[in-house]
Amino acid sequence: MKTIQDYNFKDKKALVRVDFNVPQDADLKVTDNTRIQAVKPTVEKILNDGGSVILMTHLGRPKGKVNPEFSLKSIVPEIEKVLGHEVKFCPDCIGAEAEEMASELKPGEILLLENLRFYNEEEAGDKDFAEKLAKLGDAYVNDAFGTAHRAHASTAVIAQFFPSTKFFGLLMAKELEAIDKVLKSGEKPVTAILGGSKVSTKITIIENILPAIDNLIIGGGMSFTFIKALGGQIGTSLLEDDKLPLALEILEKAKAQNVKVYLPVDTVVANEFSNDAERKEVDIYEIPEGWMGMDAGTKTRVLFNDVIMNSRTILWNGPIGVFEMPNFAAGTIALGDSIAEATKQGAFSLVGGGDSVAFVKQFGYADQVSYVSTGGGAMLESLEGKELPGVAAINN
Ligand code: AMP
Repeated sequence: MKTIQDYNFKDKKALVRVDFNVPQDADLKVTDNTRIQAVKPTVEKILNDGGSVILMTHLGRPKGKVNPEFSLKSIVPEIEKVLGHEVKFCPDCIGAEAEEMASELKPGEILLLENLRFYNEEEAGDKDFAEKLAKLGDAYVNDAFGTAHRAHASTAVIAQFFPSTKFFGLLMAKELEAIDKVLKSGEKPVTAILGGSKVSTKITIIENILPAIDNLIIGGGMSFTFIKALGGQIGTSLLEDDKLPLALEILEKAKAQNVKVYLPVDTVVANEFSNDAERKEVDIYEIPEGWMGMDAGTKTRVLFNDVIMNSRTILWNGPIGVFEMPNFAAGTIALGDSIAEATKQGAFSLVGGGDSVAFVKQFGYADQVSYVSTGGGAMLESLEGKELPGVAAINN
């Protein structure tokens, strides 16, 4: 893996693709700066070498049109605060002004370009647009894991203009190493915990990770399709009817590859999909008519805990209950506790993809696991075994 550690940026202008697609409130104030913090080591390394940094990113979905609502100018103060450094801002990402500001940039300085997605050419992966961006820097650094699964101009296409000076940033390197630690070099036993609402969105992941894992824990909404396929009564729980044969197929494949599968044994059911619904705990195979499974039951929490405590490498994607409703969050909280405890005892734990990341942040587990991925879609596609365009562009 060619990272920025392999290069001295002295007197060089590094064009760094970052993912500053940060959430903002109605006054455009940044409400979560995790993505800015995540690239700080990369920026510092380049500046410490005596280089300068030109940051480029997208923000939101302006759909190829200039729109002040999506201007990166609004996040300059937050970037300056997090990086502890003045940040110059160019109101365009290509063209005469960008070229002038880039050429005047001195070692130790940072320049932020305006939203790449003000141009349709960005998402279209336009080569001419990529070349115009490329003109601004001496080296290209990709530190935008969150968009690494897109073959856009700034995330992939641009790399061809830097045949010998294209590098992974330190965040990208960390993300890729974490995935490798689970799927390639993970200390055994390796346990994957998959939850969330749908089997259909996780099938490719399951098939791809089976050869790398020893245990597969399936929880949350998606587990009911498996329980029904195995002959259980699931009431009004989430079900993907057309995936019943596939659920059995997955179980067969796991068995053939010596992967132990753990499904919930009990569940907290509700009489309606509401935090204020009536609740009770029942056997997962005997959910009464009119009731739906909303959270992992007590026995399930103990079962999952035992598996996790005996694991050396843990991958977690997807909540195992409707954690957004406080009355049905306890199962996912127990799971978070188990993973935190196993991590404390030396296991490597990676949390990635959408809702589980939201969960660990909201419930304070982010510092108690080994690594929380910053990229939802990119993380999921990596787990599916796909080579991400942003990664391929640097590697090839
Ligand atoms: P996904 O986007 O597929 O990872 O699913 C995440 C969502 O699954 C979260 O919003 C959870 O509330 C939901 N979820 C987890 N368990 C259940 C369940 N038993 N019934 C319905 N939804 C669930």
